[in-house]
Amino acid sequence: MSVAPACPRCRAGEVLAVLRLPHTWANASGGPVRGMSEIVVCARCDAGDPLTGPIVAYFAAHDQVRPESLDQLARPLRRWLDRARPPEPDEQALEAEIEAWYRGDL
Ligand SMILES: [Zn+2]
Repeated sequence: MSVAPACPRCRAGEVLAVLRLPHTWANASGGPVRGMSEIVVCARCDAGDPLTGPIVAYFAAHDQVRPESLDQLARPLRRWLDRARPPEPDEQALEAEIEAWYRGDL
């Protein structure tokens, strides 16, 4: 039996779905930096979210995805895929890092 990966946020919840998005941002000199953003649906963190709650509810009710119940999952999954966005960079954490850099702490 395989063990499901744990959620990177709570480190305990089961990861139900992973979306990998190409993510580009500008570095200090304005050059593009390409990366990959992972957005996960966690059975624990995302149960109360209106967007991901139905996905969590589906997996709570069904042990696995079966053809006869696929429609129940496809709709919330598609909604999530349409709206999921990489997390915005944390401005405050960035500022603190820049300040530390100027102080020579990094
Ligand atoms: Zn979690």
